[in-house]
Amino acid sequence: MTYDDDNIFAKILREEIPSSRVYEDDDTLVFMDIMPRADGHCLVIPKTPCRNILDASEAQLAAVMRTAQKVARAVMVAFDATGVTVQQFNEADGGQEVFHLHFHILPRHADVSLRPPGKTGDMAAIQAHADRIRGALGG
Ligand code: AMP
Repeated sequence: MTYDDDNIFAKILREEIPSSRVYEDDDTLVFMDIMPRADGHCLVIPKTPCRNILDASEAQLAAVMRTAQKVARAVMVAFDATGVTVQQFNEADGGQEVFHLHFHILPRHADVSLRPPGKTGDMAAIQAHADRIRGALGG
């Protein structure tokens, strides 16, 4: 399996398509999922190419996990969450739809189920949620 430079997250990295960015450092980018399964649902990706954890380097995994922890802590504060779910899928049969490594960060609350996948969210609400996460990150 090879990396496809035209996948949607590669286009987001190159700013060829818009995204609601919440955080970036030298190695990683975080932006909002456009089909949020929870308020504050965001995605952490490496800036360098890899499909998923099967071909990622140790350095890519370390960088992404460092950022995932930072953002998980931030969404707990931003959404007054009582838990956080981190999801990651590998290859189509593993549930992956976009073939650039990404970790989902989902703030959780007692007795609140994740919404079903595949429904585009309200962009104004997503933008407001991005602002809250940015605020919790101190940005
Ligand atoms: P998966 O590969 O199964 O982890 O799912 C890919 C995720 O990317 C889904 O949650 C989609 O809602 C999300 N997604 C797809 N296109 C975009 C986009 N242009 N901006 C933000 N999130 C996206």
